[in-house]
Amino acid sequence: MIPLINLKQQFASIKLDILKEIEEVIESGNYILGPKVKLLEETIASKLHTKHAVAVANGTDALVLTLDAYGIGTGDEVITTPFTFFATAEAISRVNAVPVFVDVEEDTCNIDPTKIEQAITPKTKAILPVHLFGHPANMDDILSIAKRHNLIVIEDACQAFGAKYHDKYAGNLGDAACFSFFPTKNLGTLGDGGIVTTNDDAIAEKIRKLRTHGSDKKYYHSMIGYNSRLDEIHAAILLVALKKIDEWNNKRISLASNYTEALRDIPSLSLPACKEGTVHIYHLYCVSSTNRDNDMKKLKDSHISSAVYYPKCLHLQEVYKHLGYKKGSLPVAEFLASSMFALPMSPFLTDEEQRAVISVISQLMGDDV
Ligand SMILES: *Cc1c(COP(=O)(O)O)cnc(C)c1O
Repeated sequence: MIPLINLKQQFASIKLDILKEIEEVIESGNYILGPKVKLLEETIASKLHTKHAVAVANGTDALVLTLDAYGIGTGDEVITTPFTFFATAEAISRVNAVPVFVDVEEDTCNIDPTKIEQAITPKTKAILPVHLFGHPANMDDILSIAKRHNLIVIEDACQAFGAKYHDKYAGNLGDAACFSFFPTKNLGTLGDGGIVTTNDDAIAEKIRKLRTHGSDKKYYHSMIGYNSRLDEIHAAILLVALKKIDEWNNKRISLASNYTEALRDIPSLSLPACKEGTVHIYHLYCVSSTNRDNDMKKLKDSHISSAVYYPKCLHLQEVYKHLGYKKGSLPVAEFLASSMFALPMSPFLTDEEQRAVISVISQLMGDDV
């Protein structure tokens, strides 16, 4: 079976360096928020050109702590996309604010800035765009709306480490940004991890406190916080992976360009857009098909994995029934949820495997109309 994401091989390729790093951690006696976490924070801030990076336990916590640090809570509304992983909206609900879902662009699958302004109310405090699948959201338009209405912009960059928008890295575009190091993310560790990047001194300081029980001096607490720290072992692993991330992202980009070149004439498929001035890092290569179930079955019969991202929009989730959205409320997102699926993509997808995927799709789906 050709895997969707070849994680085993990815970690095998850096295993020796990881083992060496883990040995150092074991011998250091320092297992939580030690020197490797500090070095990881400095390395990521310097790579993304942000003033600060604050490591936390996972990407969801990165979002929750950031919203909390901005004082977003009960009675506040946060505008976001319905076509993303659940954690984006869950974080908003977790701080007792209300997610307000705005429809997406059909080509990039990201929040549609032309529909944001009509969703703004006096309760709106922030916009939370997601750089879905590794393609940056339309930040120029989002930031100018935010400026006009005095809103905070928090990027959900969990799928976009290394993506760029007009020469700036995702993670350095809004007021703050959140990354996940879940193993399948394009920069991942062997477990959970996350980080917040920001140029705002006060927010960085506040998140540093929040992640350790609202404290910056042991046993003295100035606020109610969380236990959301990155383990030293994960920082050590991520420092190894970071040395490879540009090479890995470039491999993804090159595989994506092979797919796009080979599949562009198949009438039943729409391929992922890459807008001018952006670097899409293809965390996932998702296509939209008029015949998804059938296409996925044909791939499976040819021993090729594929998967649906995301089968159910967030505004239609059972837990958000009380918000009053109906089927048809956000038609573009709903259309994407009914038609999109991901093809195998990882820096360790071989050229031979990719040729096999392309050949099956061209032969079998070329005939669908
Ligand atoms: C993975 C992901 C998250 C959550 O990250 P975790 O580390 O799994 O908590 C949030 N938003 C998006 C868009 C994600 O892809």
